[in-house]
Amino acid sequence: MPGKCKYIFVTGGVTSSLGKGIISASLGKLLQSRGYSVTIQKFDPYINVDPGTLNPYEHGECYVTDDGAETDLDLGHYERFISTPTSQANNVTTGRIYQNVIQKERRGDYLGKTVQVVPHITNEIKKGFKTLGDSGKYDFVITEIGGTIGDIESQPYVEAMRQFRWELGEARSLGIHLTLVPYLKTTGELKTKPTQHSVKELLSLGVQPDILVCRTEYHLNDDVKRKIALFCNVKLDAVIESIDADTIYDVPLLMQDQKLDEVVLKYLNLPVGESPKLKTWREFLQHVKHPTSEIEIALVGKYIELKDSYKSILEAFNHGGASNSCKVNIRWIDAEAVTAETAPELFKGINGILVAPGFGERGIDGKISAIQYVRENNIPFLGICLGMQCAVIEYGRNVLNLPNCDSTEFSPLATNKVIDLMEDQKNVSNLGGTMRLGSYECHLKEDSIVLRAYNNKQINERHRHRFEFNSDYLEAYEKAGMIATGFNPDSGLVEIVELPSHPWFVGVQFHPEYKSTVANPHPLFIEFVKAVMQHSKN
Ligand code: GLN
Repeated sequence: MPGKCKYIFVTGGVTSSLGKGIISASLGKLLQSRGYSVTIQKFDPYINVDPGTLNPYEHGECYVTDDGAETDLDLGHYERFISTPTSQANNVTTGRIYQNVIQKERRGDYLGKTVQVVPHITNEIKKGFKTLGDSGKYDFVITEIGGTIGDIESQPYVEAMRQFRWELGEARSLGIHLTLVPYLKTTGELKTKPTQHSVKELLSLGVQPDILVCRTEYHLNDDVKRKIALFCNVKLDAVIESIDADTIYDVPLLMQDQKLDEVVLKYLNLPVGESPKLKTWREFLQHVKHPTSEIEIALVGKYIELKDSYKSILEAFNHGGASNSCKVNIRWIDAEAVTAETAPELFKGINGILVAPGFGERGIDGKISAIQYVRENNIPFLGICLGMQCAVIEYGRNVLNLPNCDSTEFSPLATNKVIDLMEDQKNVSNLGGTMRLGSYECHLKEDSIVLRAYNNKQINERHRHRFEFNSDYLEAYEKAGMIATGFNPDSGLVEIVELPSHPWFVGVQFHPEYKSTVANPHPLFIEFVKAVMQHSKN
């Protein structure tokens, strides 16, 4: 129904980190399993044009889409839940909105008018709200507004949403507001006041929410729900409890139990029909909750204090683990703590090591020591992006005995730059959005671990890096036992390295973790987990 798509807005109140992304993704999943086509987008109120230039400690991992957009990690949840690829249009920031408006102003598009937040910024936001809807591909566009209601910086979004919904008219849109119902231990009560205040805040901006999703540690009884409904001016069945869950993958089922999808459909005058069974999802959950085995994998990285920095990797392990009916426990290893001396203790009892992506020199020596340890002790290894580059440096130093062997990133004057800047990166001066980004084709070699894993000679994977394996060294590496098993068919760039003499040693220049979903767990994670399970039996 082109042009007739419905718009659902998700806002958050009381506090940040209530899980708007997971609620949006869960609702998307529920609507999708009823046969609707759904896309989910996020509008972020910060001024960075995209999160590509942000340190992971700020907002967690930067998620990369097929079309090379560097985006908020919530887009990863959207893809993992609904398996529909997202794109640049699915993530818009205040920085991007202003950039567009200022460009238009410089071009003279505003014909001498004073350029203002209302209407120019709000109009640009509204344009963003409907870009995906206008494509005619979707029945529903779910829009998550980042930040918390009451923040100064999210106000233009709320105003744009108010106008947009008014312009759409009846039954074309609805607003879900996520709030917190805290439990006061001393009095043993669930408190509704923060929710009331948050809704009041929204009302002061001209917006009446239609559905309230209330995060809570304890079940909301009918009295609490009635009180929230009465004071917040919503229907009783539109007060949805969102109780703390064991795993984020419980949330679609919890929302289905609470009839969130039914309330949404009713509100939008759509037929409700039978509830979808969510069979595959339930099977996946069954494996997550009742695994038949357990392994521990060490994740070596330098942003380990904030687990969100490695969100997609952790979720890919959940998917790959579930495929093997195996629980994957992560041992977090600070790259800077690893040396030849500390490695045996740090990795004691470990049957697999993943060396994480990253930027800059800090932690590189530790990553290289970790790789030497796995290589020499035949422990299954997966190196992603910087992890792959470190594997190449380690092999160059310790097996090929190349003096002063390094990556141009850390040592621009090294004699043997086995990882080097790509030609088209040499004149790049701006850091934002200028890496090799997005999906590229890769051809796999016969008789390789990766071909066995993917069972397909031609794959597409997402990239986010500036540096590459320096092909001048390929022959020497292959002679010495490290072989390239994946190539970019256009540029000839090496995308994958393996050690055939080792039980399972794979370094990939791309990021497989971005493409793992509940419905399609990533083959490399499935096979890596399998190799680790095998190793743990030895
Ligand atoms: N810093 C490396 C590069 O830019 C690796 C990037 C990454 O791990 N994503 O090539």
